[in-house]
Amino acid sequence: MGSSMRLFRVWGIDVQVHWSFLLILAYGAFIYSGQSNPLAGAIYGIVVILLLFVCVLLHEFGHALVAKYFKVNVPTITLLPIGGVAQLERMPRQPFQEFLIAIAGPAVNFVLTLLLLPVALLVVGMGMGSGSASSLLAYAQSRMMTPSLDGLLVYLALTNFALGLFNLIPAFPMDGGRVLRSLLAMAMPYVRATRIAVMVGRLMAVLLAFVGLGGNIMLLLIAFFVYIGGRGELEAVESRYVLKDIKAGDALNREARQVYTSESIDKAVDLIMTTYQADFPVFDLGSNFVGVLTRPLLVSVLRTQGREGRIVDVMIPAEQIPVVGPEMTLADVWDQMMENRSRVVAVKEQGRFLGLLTLDDISELIQVVGATKEREDSQASRPSPTAAL
Ligand SMILES: [Zn+2]
Repeated sequence: MGSSMRLFRVWGIDVQVHWSFLLILAYGAFIYSGQSNPLAGAIYGIVVILLLFVCVLLHEFGHALVAKYFKVNVPTITLLPIGGVAQLERMPRQPFQEFLIAIAGPAVNFVLTLLLLPVALLVVGMGMGSGSASSLLAYAQSRMMTPSLDGLLVYLALTNFALGLFNLIPAFPMDGGRVLRSLLAMAMPYVRATRIAVMVGRLMAVLLAFVGLGGNIMLLLIAFFVYIGGRGELEAVESRYVLKDIKAGDALNREARQVYTSESIDKAVDLIMTTYQADFPVFDLGSNFVGVLTRPLLVSVLRTQGREGRIVDVMIPAEQIPVVGPEMTLADVWDQMMENRSRVVAVKEQGRFLGLLTLDDISELIQVVGATKEREDSQASRPSPTAAL
C-alpha cells in the first residue's frame, strides 16, 4: 500500500486512503452532475461518496475494535475504492474470536440501517404529506434519485443494509467467508476449515465474476481479490500448521558462524561472500551475545560508508532483538517476528545464548517440511483411484 495517504490516527490505528479513491469521488461528482444545476449536483455526488465511505470506515472500526478487545493489534485501516481493509497483525487463535471479529463489520452496517431508516422514512413522510405506506416507498424511491436530504438518508439506510448483506456472502477472505471458516473450525481442524472456506470462496468468486461480466467492474475486482486473497491465506495457514510441531531449539543452525564486535566490516563482507549465512550473531571479547549483523543492514552500510569501520558500530544491539525460549514452537516464533517487525530472533535458555533464528531459516523449513507433510497427508487421506470412481 505504498500509494496510500495517512488521514488520521485514532486508538493507535492509522487510517489511510488509497490515491485511487479520488477517482471514486470524481465518479460520484460525474453521476450527479446531470442535474439542472450541475455544480450543486457534483458537490452532492461528492458528499454521497464521502458519507458512504464514512460507513465503510465505521464497518472497519467494527472489526478493528473487536480485534483489539481480543489483544490483536490493528496497525492500519486502508480505504480502497472497493471498500476498506482493516489489517490485523495476526489471526486470533480461537474460532469464536474470529467469528466475532468478522461479524462485527456487517453488524455495524445493520445497526446504521436501523438508526437511519426510521429517520429517513420520517423525513420522506413529512415531505410527502398524507398517503399510504406503499406510496411512501414509491415516493422514497423517487426522492433517492434527486439531490436532497431525505433522498440522502434513504440512500444511506438502504446502502448500509446492502453492504451488510454483501459482506456476509461466504466468499473467503470476505467477512462472510471468515464467519464460515470460524464456524467450521469449531468442528474440525483449522487447516481443513480454511481449505473448505477457500473452496466455497472460489465458487463464490466465479459467481461474482459472472454477475460482474454484466458490466459491474467493482464486482469483477472483488471476485479477483477473493480468488487471490483466499489462496494467500490458505498458504499462510498451511505454513503455520507445518511450523506448530517444530521447536525453536530444534531448528537452530548449530554450525552458524559468529563475528566479534572488534572485527572489521570487511571481515563480515568476506563471510557473507563465502558462506550461505545471511545473519550473524555478534559477540564481545567476553563471549557475550551483544547484537546481530544482518545482510540487509550490511548492504546499506556498505552503500553509505563503505568497508571502513567495525562491526560494533553497525550491528543491531541485542536489546532490540526479540528473545524466545528453545521450547517455543516456530509458529509462535513467527508471530513474535511479525509483532516485533524483526526478521531475526535470539534463542536463549536461562540467559544463555543458543543461536539465531531468521525468517530465511523458517521459510526454508516451510518448504522442506511442507513438501514432506503434503506427501504424507495425501497418502494417508486420499482414497485409492478405484475407490474414487
Ligand atoms: Zn468487513
